[in-house]
Amino acid sequence: MTAMISLEQARELVLSRVEPLEAETVDLLDAAGRVAAADLKSDMDVSPFAHAAMDGYAVRRAELEGATADSPVMLEPIAEVPAGGVFDGTAAAGQCVRIMTGAALPDCFDAVVKYEIVDIVEGDGKCGGKVAFYAQPKQRDNVREAGEEAKAGEAVVNRGEVITTAGVGFLAGCGVLQVPTHRKPRVAVIPIGSELVAPSEVPGPGHIRNSNSYALAACAKAAGCEADMLPIVPDDEAALEAVVRQAAKTHDFVVTSGGASNGDFDFIKPVVERAGELLMTSVNMRPGKAQTFGIVDGTPVFGLPGNPAAAYMGFELIIRPALRKMQGYSAFEHPTVKAKLTSGKKKKDPRRLFMRATLSHGEAGELLVTPAKKQSSGLFGPIQKTNCMAILPEGAQDAKPGDEVTCVLLDAPEGMVI
Ligand code: AMP
Ligand code: MG
Repeated sequence: MTAMISLEQARELVLSRVEPLEAETVDLLDAAGRVAAADLKSDMDVSPFAHAAMDGYAVRRAELEGATADSPVMLEPIAEVPAGGVFDGTAAAGQCVRIMTGAALPDCFDAVVKYEIVDIVEGDGKCGGKVAFYAQPKQRDNVREAGEEAKAGEAVVNRGEVITTAGVGFLAGCGVLQVPTHRKPRVAVIPIGSELVAPSEVPGPGHIRNSNSYALAACAKAAGCEADMLPIVPDDEAALEAVVRQAAKTHDFVVTSGGASNGDFDFIKPVVERAGELLMTSVNMRPGKAQTFGIVDGTPVFGLPGNPAAAYMGFELIIRPALRKMQGYSAFEHPTVKAKLTSGKKKKDPRRLFMRATLSHGEAGELLVTPAKKQSSGLFGPIQKTNCMAILPEGAQDAKPGDEVTCVLLDAPEGMVI
């Protein structure tokens, strides 16, 4: 029997037993939110040419020296360059070119003056006639330079970086349409309990629906994995051992729920011990003390408690970091905030308590946190209805209204700064 360890130790233990999975190549559009498994390089300068950042006139800056509101300088437009077009003529002194946003800046010009600050004093402003300029632009004003976003051959996204939705556009511009990323872990979700029936059924006497599998598979998917909900396993040691051994062969990570404590029909601990290496049996947290972890056939096997809120917490706080690491992510901490409790809480035991709770703003803008009325570890509903977990640290001390507590935002991305 292994001793009770802290949440941090449990997380470190499970993290230490997994590595990023091998790379697979995905279409760029499917790479959003995933981690680059190699440096991604641009195949050209982006943008490939200097171009206008505004609709206006391409000019030689030097020719507008001394231009003011009272003594404008007149230039003659000799052509119009739309986006996608190229001006291949030559411009003599005193001439300019009308240019649209995105159009290549002709080499002979060095600034763009936007429409809004000039006047067309003769002609239609496109070809021939006169345009009045009232100020000298800065060098390269309203010009986006070639290679401003990326240079040919430059690593624009580094190995280990999470590709954002904007990053997908960035990579598209750089010609990177196939992205190496870490393969998604295949997670087996195994419900253990002779009382369980499929949620599609109406439970008979003494039976309940297997709700955990759905929650845990949803958690696995939300963590970026592929989830397989395996059939219900009754509280039968031999049957459980066979299923766990098999799942360890076919999956990258095996998650069970139920049968993880010390009841007469709780078999996940002896099964992991016999089939592999048992590394952890309980964690100093509430809900969710009975958390079993071990390795079977080289595969991590995690036995969550059966109580829904306890299973959920074990998954989100201990399993999820490991599943993220397997996909190359390196941030594992969700953001936390400090808030004042609106009600007190008696501490029933010294374990670290995670209360399902709702953050809100008080009248002065301060953060308040209100624990859900029902804190039973048997309930999913309060997690659905709340927006954080308010933490009461290890120890016996009760919490009073007005006490400041740390609240973890499990729905906010890991590594987010708030
Ligand atoms: P156990 O951890 O097996 O002692 O189960 C603790 C509580 O969780 C019991 O009330 C079980 O009926 C319930 N439970 C176990 N597995 C599930 C499941 N898959 N879905 C919903 N409740 C469950
Ligand atoms: Mg049970």
